[in-house]
Amino acid sequence: MDTVYFDNAATTRVDERVMEAMLPYFTQQYGNANSAHQLGRMSKVAIEDAREEIAQLIGAEPSEIIFTSGGTESDNAIIKGTIAATRKKEIITSPIEHHAVIHPSESLKLQGIRITYLQPDSDGTIQPEQVAEAISDDTAIVSLMHVNNEIGSVNPVKEIAEVCRERKVVFHSDTVQSVGKIPVNLKELSLDALSISAHKIYGPKGIGVLYVKNGTPWIPWLQGGSQERRRRGGTSNVAGIAGLTAAIRLAVNEMDQHRELFSHLRETTVSELKKRFGDRFQINGPQTGGVPNILNIGFITEDERGLDGEMLLLNLDIDGVCVSNGSACTSGAMEPSHVLQGIGVPEPIARSSIRVSFGKQNSVEDVQFFVDKLERILERMMVAAS
Ligand SMILES: *Cc1c(COP(=O)(O)O)cnc(C)c1O
Repeated sequence: MDTVYFDNAATTRVDERVMEAMLPYFTQQYGNANSAHQLGRMSKVAIEDAREEIAQLIGAEPSEIIFTSGGTESDNAIIKGTIAATRKKEIITSPIEHHAVIHPSESLKLQGIRITYLQPDSDGTIQPEQVAEAISDDTAIVSLMHVNNEIGSVNPVKEIAEVCRERKVVFHSDTVQSVGKIPVNLKELSLDALSISAHKIYGPKGIGVLYVKNGTPWIPWLQGGSQERRRRGGTSNVAGIAGLTAAIRLAVNEMDQHRELFSHLRETTVSELKKRFGDRFQINGPQTGGVPNILNIGFITEDERGLDGEMLLLNLDIDGVCVSNGSACTSGAMEPSHVLQGIGVPEPIARSSIRVSFGKQNSVEDVQFFVDKLERILERMMVAAS
């Protein structure tokens, strides 16, 4: 074994079956779906079949499915398009959302839009009562993610959706990390909008879905040709759409089986960490009740300064382990993850933290490999730090 890939919340390896579903659209059925000829019509049919299948898999109407270039575009489109359509002045969100939600929201401040950030608890969840209290006559949209990509926390989106529906405010949830991990059925959840990305579920990069419930006040954001019933211009990514559809189908159908594997991997990892590090490590975010495929851990040193998480990541990489730490480079310096800061993890621990995210190709042997490497690296680093 040369490398262990534990960064599946960043992206995943494309499933062979997904790849196979895409192949015909590169060299055989390559028509532009907007073309009137036979090759074009074949692409059009493929896209509409895909739309129907995805709608069915998430409990939506086909007319509510818009193909986009992925999670980032879907998040941008719903936030900017709802602000434009409602002409209201407030966005309600949280400080631990993905940057694909936070940054477009922040950019709207230039146009006089106000952002209200709800404070999550230390587990990383927002309660429906907080949303009820925050909504005003000025609120255009509430955007709160279903599953957090760094700590795996799960928001009570069904209850939040009910609050928003009562107050007639658009509710969007970024479901990029929940589709295929926990049930996402719109007949149950009644969201107004959600975002999906294929590459987080063993599909290709650069393709995703924005679901917008019929009747939601929303103006298309990316304009051009008449694709997607004028709701998203740009030549349709037919191969991507075929891959996305296969990826969602497989993720939904095989969800229970993967969940069992992830729970087993997580339990093994935590018990190995306890055995080796005792109380020198902590789990950031939910101890229980989160998705099992994401495990965020921080290390506690005897002095107050904490470990250098960048160095830890680098050392793991040299040893063939791919994990991540969610830190961002702002003005030349590394800032610890905004999510860990947002749930109140002390800065020295946030700096020393890493996110382990399991995928369906991982095994218990991978966990053993990882904890062995980690133990040796941490011993070296903790000696050097003291
Ligand atoms: C990865 C991710 C995104 C961005 O999706 P892309 O398809 O890479 O643009 C958005 N939200 C969450 C929660 C993610 O994990």
